[in-house]
Amino acid sequence: MKKSGYLRIFVSYYKPHWKLFALDMACALCICMVDLAFPIVSRSSMQTLLPQKLFSAFFVVMALLAGAYVLKSVFYFIVTYWGHLLGVRMEADIRRDLFHHMQDLSFSFYDKNRTGQLMSRVTGDLFEITELAHHGPEDLFISTVTILGAFCIMLTIRWQLALVVFAVIPVFVIFTAVSRKRMMDASTEVKAKLAGINGEVESSISGMRTAKAFANEDAESAKFNAANDQFRGAKRGYYKAMARYQSGMEFCMGILSVLVIAFGGFLIMRGEMDFIDLTTFALYVTAFITPIRKLSAFVEQFMQGMAGFRRFVELMRLEPDIQDAPDARDLTGVKGDILVDDVTFRYESAGESVLEHVKLHVRPGETVAVVGPSGGGKSTLCQLIPRFYDVTEGRILVDGQDVRELKQHSLRAQIGIVQQDVFLFAGTIYDNIRYGKPDATEAEIVEAARRAEIYDDILEMPDGFQTQVGERGVMLSGGQKQRVSIARIFLKNPPILILDEATSALDSVTEARIQSAFDELARGRTTLIIAHRLSTIRSASRIIVIDGCGIREEGTHEQLMARDGAYAQLYRAQRSTAV
Ligand code: ADP
Repeated sequence: MKKSGYLRIFVSYYKPHWKLFALDMACALCICMVDLAFPIVSRSSMQTLLPQKLFSAFFVVMALLAGAYVLKSVFYFIVTYWGHLLGVRMEADIRRDLFHHMQDLSFSFYDKNRTGQLMSRVTGDLFEITELAHHGPEDLFISTVTILGAFCIMLTIRWQLALVVFAVIPVFVIFTAVSRKRMMDASTEVKAKLAGINGEVESSISGMRTAKAFANEDAESAKFNAANDQFRGAKRGYYKAMARYQSGMEFCMGILSVLVIAFGGFLIMRGEMDFIDLTTFALYVTAFITPIRKLSAFVEQFMQGMAGFRRFVELMRLEPDIQDAPDARDLTGVKGDILVDDVTFRYESAGESVLEHVKLHVRPGETVAVVGPSGGGKSTLCQLIPRFYDVTEGRILVDGQDVRELKQHSLRAQIGIVQQDVFLFAGTIYDNIRYGKPDATEAEIVEAARRAEIYDDILEMPDGFQTQVGERGVMLSGGQKQRVSIARIFLKNPPILILDEATSALDSVTEARIQSAFDELARGRTTLIIAHRLSTIRSASRIIVIDGCGIREEGTHEQLMARDGAYAQLYRAQRSTAV
């Protein structure tokens, strides 16, 4: 896409806030005017009123100038406060669009992108975009008006002196451009090292339990120290470049002042200029330098902000793989009939098919257990029913309707999923259960907790239902987390259930409680259980064995044992490890 395309989208974010933008620019213009007017107005009043001894008129002019500065401070306040607010509002809009878009993106997107990288992209890029959004137009506008205004006024004061200044300006511009480039390189290096250090901290903190278990804290510290040293080195490089730039600028400005005074003194000696002109001129020289610095900073800010914005637009342009068809229907009044009709599935990132020509019919209210070796495709099959991924070939029908023809939201509202790796949100147990039905009453939540066999555990916790579960639910045991997620499903009360049983070993009491909660949950619903432990299979009316390319066997426990095939082998293997 052309650069102008991104710029147009960027500018479109100003549209809803155009009034604020106009106010910001108008105030910025007034600030420029006051700054530009001060030296020239003082000069003319000194040159015209003082020689005629019109002191009262002179003080009136001075009072007016003081008044102008009062106004300038008001404009300054508006630009700083409302200008930043403009940036904040735009940031909120961009963040909102990004968040909504990321919610729409499909599972396959999250398979390919790491959460940490996405987070740093969202925070880092947005910061630079906001800085550009707020300061960019204002800096560009103020600098351009000031440079042009000062340029014209200096020409009118003494054009010969003005030419001396303009001859030196390219030196400033080149020096600034070169120094800024060095600073930018150094800053990129700092960012890279910072990302390294953040990655190190994130990985060390998330893996703290493992590090402690292996007593490997020293190795973790060594990795962290190395990243920290690199970051410190990069920061030193940046500050060196910055110090060189600022001292160089001071030098250039000093030399320019000497040149102006020397040449101006020469003109005064020749009677071609007076002291007042020279002082006024010197004031414009100072007024001229600041915008040049600002402009070079703007170029840098623009490049960084637009790079961030380009990444934002690219992310926004990613179409979700799974979208509602234009004529998608709502799924209502579901009986719970599921038909997997000759389905073949391949993950985008992996070449081989995980499922091949799978055919399965689950009747309303039936419980089917899916078993098979790890990696055999059990979870994959279950993820196709709520349409987290689209089938590569074949189709999946719920109550006779192809899931691709249904609205995703209405389809998923009819399906309850208990995942193996339960995700709890930081907050209270109460809120985590309520997640299944946001408008549930307290009585409903208590009832769901009872049916999920977690009620007694909750009462024993220090704050009962108000106990904080910690980030990702770390304060709860694996078994408790599973039962909280079962309670959510009791609240949601869907006609179709997909239960992915926890693989981690649970003690026999917990296992029995989860089992009984599962049984209670499955009653009267169409249920698919991914059974890692064959004890779960008790309540299933049918068992299917999936082994990496499709359904290998199908039948009841007794039938499959009598066949003495893959299931019988799996069963015997589990029995022998369990003993
Ligand atoms: P099971 O539930 O039987 O253990 P899965 O359905 O999780 O098996 O996995 C089946 C195969 O698909 C495995 O080889 C696994 O590596 C692969 N797989 C699972 N999820 C993904 C994914 N998101 N992207 C690519 N490959 C995947």
